[in-house]
Amino acid sequence: MIWQSRQTRNAVRSRARIGAIIWSGCPKCYAGLVKLLPRQSSIRIFLTAIALFASLISPALAATWTVRALPVKLVNGGPVLFQVKSPAKLNSLDGTWFGHKITFSYDRTTKTWFALAGVSIETAPGKYTLQLSGEQAAKDSPVTFAHSFLVGRASYPKISVQLAVQKKFTEPSPEQLQQIDEAKKVKDDYLNRVTPDREWDGKFAAPAEASISDVFGSQRIFNGVAQRPHLGLDFRVPTGTPVHAMNGGTVLLARPLYYEGNFIVIDHGQGLLTLYLHLSEFKVKEGDTVKRGQVIGLSGGTGRATGPHLHVAVRWQGTYLDPGRLLQLALP
Ligand SMILES: [Zn+2]
Repeated sequence: MIWQSRQTRNAVRSRARIGAIIWSGCPKCYAGLVKLLPRQSSIRIFLTAIALFASLISPALAATWTVRALPVKLVNGGPVLFQVKSPAKLNSLDGTWFGHKITFSYDRTTKTWFALAGVSIETAPGKYTLQLSGEQAAKDSPVTFAHSFLVGRASYPKISVQLAVQKKFTEPSPEQLQQIDEAKKVKDDYLNRVTPDREWDGKFAAPAEASISDVFGSQRIFNGVAQRPHLGLDFRVPTGTPVHAMNGGTVLLARPLYYEGNFIVIDHGQGLLTLYLHLSEFKVKEGDTVKRGQVIGLSGGTGRATGPHLHVAVRWQGTYLDPGRLLQLALP
């Protein structure tokens, strides 16, 4: 009887501590319950308190950010589509990636912020951070978040090709050096421009229906001298083949330059440009607005080219990206 009354006293004490205990009628089970239930309950109470505290202090802390990259595996020389879901409703979202500012657009159907960016071909494999900063309607201070991505090494072909290039391109005269210098000034000015509004919309389209004759990142040798990697994509087309705009934008340049020949640059906004080289004819002029697929010129072999072909390049905020990888990206 003494033992039972001690058990009853224990039960009353435990009930007071943990709220409610189901009495099984068996001292053994009862002992187990007393041992088990308070531990479970205290964890539950602790977690509830944390959640309550977090929701009271900051609603943004309680919810989470979702940050994704497309393609999932980032590589040097590759473009990347960042997709962000914020825990709170935002008016605008900006990011910083390799020191470049990224402006995000909002997709209402998926409630996702998105921005196109890239990784330089010179970037070493490693972990790199995307810093996010969002403006909220009712708050003065921005909400911030950081997410790290792993950048791997892309395998670009290392091919040594002996190409016969005219002497004026490997040993230019003083007059030609002046033309090269003038062309460099034009490129330094125009090719690093970042216009704020996005003009591209949806997937990028191939500029010509033709096979590829050289890929991005391959290393060439001109007259025995190793050149920098090929920073574009070559299409095997004869002279006079229509060349199409890869996406919507504004014609930034449409003029002949020394190495590029007849050269068109389309500004797609937010620092994304597409470049079309060695053309035989222009079908647009600087300042024109173009749509994806619109004919902008005819292919040729002007400038430093061993023969007629179309060289296209993609630039993002001063960095050349792989056009082939951009063409594969499913974009909103
Ligand atoms: Zn090329």
